[in-house]
Amino acid sequence: MPREVSVAVPIPALDLLSYDVPTELPFPEVGARVLVPLGTRVVTGCVVGRAAVSAVTTLKPLLDVLDTEPMLPADVVDLALWVGEYYACGAGEAVAAAMPPRAWVASERQAQITDAGLQARGGRRGASRQLVLEVLADGTARAVAQLARLVAARRGQPAHAARGLHALLAAMARDGLVTLAQPLKGTASAFKTIRVARITAHGLELVERETSLGPRQREALEVLRGTPLGVRVPELTRRGISSDTVRRLAEMGGLTVSREVIERDPWPTETLESTGTESAADRVLTAHQQTVVDALQEPARQGEFSVALLHGVTGSGKTEIYRRLAGAAVAAGRQALILVPEIALTPAVAATFRQAFGSRVAVQHSGLSSGARHDQWYRVRRGEVDVVVGTRSAVFVPLPAVGLIVVDEEHDASYKQEESPRYHGRDVAIMRAKRSGALVVLGSATPSLESYRHATSGHYRLFTLPERVKCRPLPSVRIVDMREELAAEGVDVVLSRDLTEAIDARLKRGEQALVLLNRRGFATAVFCRQCGRSLECPNCSVSLTFHRAAGQARCHYCGYARARPTSCPECAGRYLEQVGFGTERVEAEIVARWPAARVARLDRDTVRRRGAAARLLGRFGSGAIDILVGTQMVAKGHDFPRVTLVGVVSADVGLGVADYRAAERTFQLLTQVAGRAGRGAVPGEAIVQTLHPDHYSIRHACSQAYAPFYAEEIQFRRAMRYPPEVSLVSAVVRGTHYRQTMQEAAELVAAVQRRPSRFRVLGPASAPIGRLRGQYRVQLFLKGPHRREMREALLAALDGRTELRRRVVVDVDPVWML
Ligand code: ADP
Ligand code: ZN
Repeated sequence: MPREVSVAVPIPALDLLSYDVPTELPFPEVGARVLVPLGTRVVTGCVVGRAAVSAVTTLKPLLDVLDTEPMLPADVVDLALWVGEYYACGAGEAVAAAMPPRAWVASERQAQITDAGLQARGGRRGASRQLVLEVLADGTARAVAQLARLVAARRGQPAHAARGLHALLAAMARDGLVTLAQPLKGTASAFKTIRVARITAHGLELVERETSLGPRQREALEVLRGTPLGVRVPELTRRGISSDTVRRLAEMGGLTVSREVIERDPWPTETLESTGTESAADRVLTAHQQTVVDALQEPARQGEFSVALLHGVTGSGKTEIYRRLAGAAVAAGRQALILVPEIALTPAVAATFRQAFGSRVAVQHSGLSSGARHDQWYRVRRGEVDVVVGTRSAVFVPLPAVGLIVVDEEHDASYKQEESPRYHGRDVAIMRAKRSGALVVLGSATPSLESYRHATSGHYRLFTLPERVKCRPLPSVRIVDMREELAAEGVDVVLSRDLTEAIDARLKRGEQALVLLNRRGFATAVFCRQCGRSLECPNCSVSLTFHRAAGQARCHYCGYARARPTSCPECAGRYLEQVGFGTERVEAEIVARWPAARVARLDRDTVRRRGAAARLLGRFGSGAIDILVGTQMVAKGHDFPRVTLVGVVSADVGLGVADYRAAERTFQLLTQVAGRAGRGAVPGEAIVQTLHPDHYSIRHACSQAYAPFYAEEIQFRRAMRYPPEVSLVSAVVRGTHYRQTMQEAAELVAAVQRRPSRFRVLGPASAPIGRLRGQYRVQLFLKGPHRREMREALLAALDGRTELRRRVVVDVDPVWML
């Protein structure tokens, strides 16, 4: 009976493809990788469906089955398909997001001549066959595309597609003239192996008999005799035994060398230092912690779907609750998945779990080398892991029976992926838990409006931790009205008198301070005093940020950089002025003011390299830094007991943004960063500089009162009909000509509106960043009660318009409106 499979391939906006499974291949399972022809290419795909069919199919055949065991478990495939549909990105990209690194191998079919083929040369059958045999006569295996070129060259024809050749080669293979193989390009296996030398029986004899061994050879065998399990060859090299010596001994039969898989270690030792000092094992829970653990232990064991929102103020001990619940799930034979918003947070959280679960903990995030990530993934896949700590993409890890999924700092925008597939890690986590029967715990001191609404309307259970552990007080927060400060001290003030004094006091007492400004660079713009224009990015409609250390003006959106000019490029005016300031300037001010202090900066400019953020945070945690300046990266989740002061240089950075979430983000950022202060024995203080001391997001953040903020914000969302009151789907049309792009967007709006529907369409309008990477961007929004209806309307309007479809970014539940 013919067999068919549907296959997801990692190509944008492509639907599932169907293939016939030729009789000589095994029938691949759902989740197995296969090689499929796609146009003139061969690509790796993942089987997502299989069926035996009665009728003869006209489908193209699969080329190969790469996995006899499924690579992805069926439930993960299912989850990915849901993502593909919900986020309107298609199955291929969603399945790709679930795959481990290095899973997509490129491959090309190769042909090699056989003995029979060699003998058949010069025969009479078929000129094309003879030509192929001639080209292959030297015995080299040739890729089909290359073979096609060589054959065409012999015929004196221009090379074109290898299409006809595939059939011919298949026939020749059936006749035994050539063999066809499909070796995988690159490494067939992405495991890292190491050479290990072991002594043989003959080797033992050699050392014992006083034979004519060289001194090095003797030494090598002596070492190996002491270690019957074998010694890694690099270790021998380290001891001065060259690989030549090893090879010679192998030739003599004195030792054998074999390759063994080793695991790349994702645990950089220096990053583990930042964790708490006391042992957590015998810690007594606070009454509030105990209430939560008591209520959720059973659900974590049972494997029934439910969602709990854990609203706990900063420092209330949420991590400890996660650890206990993970223990409950693991004791019941299930696993726990712990999601954190930021790579830099994984080492500390993973260390906490390693204390409790030892080596049965894996990490998954894009900050690991792809090799380490690959190895960790396979440990999970082989069932060697009970707890996975990771960032958003870890939501797809192949745990066999997840009992608990924690989404820590669930409000954090980093859970949303800002490229296709544009999924939200928290929402996918909930969907995964629903499918596999797990408890979801969403934790935050500043829950998202979405989650809090669900919790207060009874969809989620709500738990509150209103106090910090050990009766530590929340930090006191003071507002500095910068309007007064600027009037008194001049317009160029970065650090107010209050903040300066407070930092001074911390330095004197040997305590630490965090200083937040959520904007990178030295100056936010460079403008000409003569013509008034500022330096703009040639590719994007934004002004360039000045970076002093690099002497460059840079675009933060496309990466464009130029040396800072000495005169205005527009009018040649000589007076260029810098306005606004970012973290680099704040750092410079602090260094100038306190030259003896140990100051460091944490933002995307200072931690480009892998692991750099974790290392910097580790140094801060160990007390090697007095003052850490940074962007929102310093605000998130960290637990540094010696920080007693948090300074916010400007609370207003996010408020001016054209985004209905501006107030929510400001409130979250300020509350979170203030929450970094006073987590140890000494009470903490936060000083917030702002030009808008009366803005409700700043007022509520200063009193660190979530409920009143929520009440005010949700009213605004209701009145304006913004999420979570309604759902939102956005589409951005990109194009090289403004008018045409606007026209296309207008047509799209018209097409969407042609259907009767319950949603509203807003736009088209130029996006807040109207041009990005040389492309104009026109935006439209669909706003209504049902995502499915909006998504389908949009996709239907794009149906059949492949070229336009490629230029439209569809975002379901968008997080950034830019
Ligand atoms: P949150 O995530 O709620 O901000 P953490 O989980 O980081 O808080 O906990 C804050 C600090 O309190 C950590 O150093 C943690 O080790 C400690 N801690 C947590 N629970 C307890 C407890 N029951 N007794 C003592 N210390 C605790
Ligand atoms: Zn740019």
